[in-house]
Amino acid sequence: MSNIKNILAKLISFDTVSRHSNLALIDYVQSYLTDLGIESRLVPNQEQTKTNLYATIGPNVAGGIILSGHTDVVPVDGQDWHTDPFTLVEKDQKYFGRGSCDMKGFLAICLAAVPAMLEANLKRPIHLCFSYDEEIGCVGAVDLVAEIAVNLPPVEAVFVGEPTSMQVANLHKSVNSMLTKITGVEAHSSKLNLGVSANFAAAKLINFLSDALDEYRANPQTDLTSLEPNYSTLNIGTIHGGNATNIIPKFCEFSTDLRTVPKDDPDICVHSYKQYTQKIAAQMQAQNPICSIEVIDKAAAPGLAPEENGVAESLALQWSANQQAIAVAYGTEAGLFQKAGYSTIVCGPGSIDQAHKPNEFIEIAQLEKCAVFIEKLIQHSAN
Ligand SMILES: [Zn+2]
Repeated sequence: MSNIKNILAKLISFDTVSRHSNLALIDYVQSYLTDLGIESRLVPNQEQTKTNLYATIGPNVAGGIILSGHTDVVPVDGQDWHTDPFTLVEKDQKYFGRGSCDMKGFLAICLAAVPAMLEANLKRPIHLCFSYDEEIGCVGAVDLVAEIAVNLPPVEAVFVGEPTSMQVANLHKSVNSMLTKITGVEAHSSKLNLGVSANFAAAKLINFLSDALDEYRANPQTDLTSLEPNYSTLNIGTIHGGNATNIIPKFCEFSTDLRTVPKDDPDICVHSYKQYTQKIAAQMQAQNPICSIEVIDKAAAPGLAPEENGVAESLALQWSANQQAIAVAYGTEAGLFQKAGYSTIVCGPGSIDQAHKPNEFIEIAQLEKCAVFIEKLIQHSAN
């Protein structure tokens, strides 16, 4: 346990809030692995300010297992922390610190287990895949998954160690977030003939999305009772438009969050919405050609669907001593792996109830449980 604690303390000490670089943390991981004789490869972002890392322990042959986690954490701004969020504090059988639960605890267990992996004389490899920018929409993992799909031999299963209290999750919704920016023409509110209202256009678009939501609500995925709610959802999180009651507003922008159940294809919803924005833009441009509507895709993370006779699920149920898989409410990188053809589940230490909150912690008992899971995974890979 002490090795896990030391590594976790080190990982927490890097402020890898998503808006910052994760390079210092990755440097540490890379030199830790190098000291153990393991080469790692980096998949950086375009600006070279952040990077994914992957490494293979054992022979580089088919049939291995991927352990996946993200290195970034959510911000601490405005949160009431009783201790320094970037210093591990042990209290009441818990480790406190930003990322302790989501999800540096899992990363620490994986890294602490590397010497045991090396001693086990693995027949099939264990691959570590650490990403950046998960918390802002599974951004980094897109390139990581694309690269490993080409560079790594086929694997048996992927385990994403997001906090599930060591239950096995085989289902979560997709997440698409978009920002819609509308440009109209400003004028005095009495001179309707001179202006084009960005707010009225926004109202039409939001109404379209509201109708789509009604449609989703009326058509739940009835075979998935573990999802709450078991229909796709849409949310308009923010709206900013206009400056004064007596001015026809020139700008309006609003954010949309779409989460779909497996039976609904998010791309269909996004596509039909974008087509509708073009129709509304054309109506505005008929009044004044300088009007425009832009839809910016902020993030798109596919959902995770239960697999028929899924290998990842059956192995994880065995090793975690669970009877059946669950659904989780949040999105993860698991959907990206599954979409790339990998058998994938989510299973990791700590409760999502403690994630993203001030005084985030992980129970030591959860880390111990996960360490047992990894031991079984090592035994499996050595046979
Ligand atoms: Zn997470």
